[in-house]
Amino acid sequence: MAQVVAKKRPPISSKPSPNVLPYQTPRLREHYTLGKKLGQGQFGTTYQCTEKVTGLQYACKSIPKRKLLCREDYEDVWREIQIMHHLSEHPNVVRIKGTYEDNLFVHIVMELCKGGELFDRIVQKGHYSERQAAHLMKTIVKVVEACHSLGVMHRDLKPENFLFDSSDEDATLKATDFGLSIFYKPGQYVSDVVGSPYYVAPEVLHKFYGPEIDVWSAGVILYILLSGVPPFWAETDNGIFKQILKGKIDFESEPWPHISDSAKDLVKKMLDRDPKARITAHEVLCHPWLVDDAAAPDKPLGSAVLNRLKQFYDMNKLKKMALRVIAERLSEEEIGGLKQLFKMIDTDSSGTITYEELKDGLKRVGSDLVESDIKALMKAADFDNSGTIDYGEFIAATLHLNKMEREENLLAAFSYFDKDGSGYITTDELQQACVEFGLGDVKLDDIIKEIDIDNDGRIDYGEFATMMKKGNTGFAARTMRGNLNFNLADALGASDSEKKQ
Ligand code: ADP
Repeated sequence: MAQVVAKKRPPISSKPSPNVLPYQTPRLREHYTLGKKLGQGQFGTTYQCTEKVTGLQYACKSIPKRKLLCREDYEDVWREIQIMHHLSEHPNVVRIKGTYEDNLFVHIVMELCKGGELFDRIVQKGHYSERQAAHLMKTIVKVVEACHSLGVMHRDLKPENFLFDSSDEDATLKATDFGLSIFYKPGQYVSDVVGSPYYVAPEVLHKFYGPEIDVWSAGVILYILLSGVPPFWAETDNGIFKQILKGKIDFESEPWPHISDSAKDLVKKMLDRDPKARITAHEVLCHPWLVDDAAAPDKPLGSAVLNRLKQFYDMNKLKKMALRVIAERLSEEEIGGLKQLFKMIDTDSSGTITYEELKDGLKRVGSDLVESDIKALMKAADFDNSGTIDYGEFIAATLHLNKMEREENLLAAFSYFDKDGSGYITTDELQQACVEFGLGDVKLDDIIKEIDIDNDGRIDYGEFATMMKKGNTGFAARTMRGNLNFNLADALGASDSEKKQ
């Protein structure tokens, strides 16, 4: 069931490059002790491991480099790492902790999920109740929505790739294995035939597809959750493909007569063979069968870019400068996904995003804004008032807040401003930073007053960290039109602790 249909690979032409990561790393065993084997995948073996300094347990996927046969294989692993970072702030995506590489292996250390695969639970249970199935489906589709809003197509959604974080009945489901995921541009089509037979969408078999394929695969999962059997079934792969392309979906056999019309309606809409007519991830989340009470999910997610720009808009100048400092020190793997988003919007590849490009980019990902809103967002991100957003400005403005809240990043940003190492950021130092960042016309006293809790006229590390971690006050919500005012934390997949702030 886990087998990959076919992955188009160029023949081994040149010698593969010897490294996946563009930098040297310490050896895995300096920091972790490897424990028992958790499972074996197509490329890698996953082990339990323990971080030596903290004693905390993680999972480590070790990919033997001898299995990487061509340059594309190396690029695939690098892309998987970047995509994991890009999505890792989502509460239902396995969080990546670090990557290590030696001569023989690439190791991806990530959050340990102790509850096993969704696949195994389905096998144990036979099938789920409608309520339980709806609960799981909501999580799966939320992940799909988050992927799409960040320009990622998963391409391999199946119950084997969802793990429970514990063995409890109400454990959290987390997506893992982004090995086949890719960055895509809205409106562009892909032709690689990849995926797993039961879950593959018809348009993948026709070699012309977009992100809608993930909704199809989720629809197959939903059918299995409700009935315990796949909707398209045959003895051979070819037989399965024939069913996917032409077969009638069985809603007559047991247990379908006992399943609600609403559940069936959703399955049918997700398994619409026409990708254009197929329900979108967001529409799935608004479908009556998934909406437990009267409250529909928030406004359409739009794009993560838009949401993050809006959040950035709300920040004071010091916070914005700190984000630039932090953005500069993040590794390539951490910001690789944002780089892809930048490229998606910078259509003429000039290295800067113009007003028109931002407008078109946001439109392409489904956010239709009025001119004044886009201008305001543009102005917020455009530090040096050049009229365009350059790469550094974009990364700073779209960075996920979790990255900025990490202690080492906060410390680095603080010491950037605290030039003389006195332990305080003074008005003079802030002034100097504004000059360095090309920021004119900043009311420094106002910024200091806002942050300076003990009123001593300067900012200590505690005050700085509090300001950085503090939720935004919703300036955008106050000044912009209502359609910009929606639940950002949900939209960005923020953790519960973050939402509470
Ligand atoms: P693949 O080669 O198909 O990508 P993976 O390496 O992702 O396979 O997974 C191999 C096995 O390890 C699977 O059985 C999976 O359930 C298990 N596994 C993967 N990631 C984790 C994790 N974070 N925690 C616990 N088990 C995991």
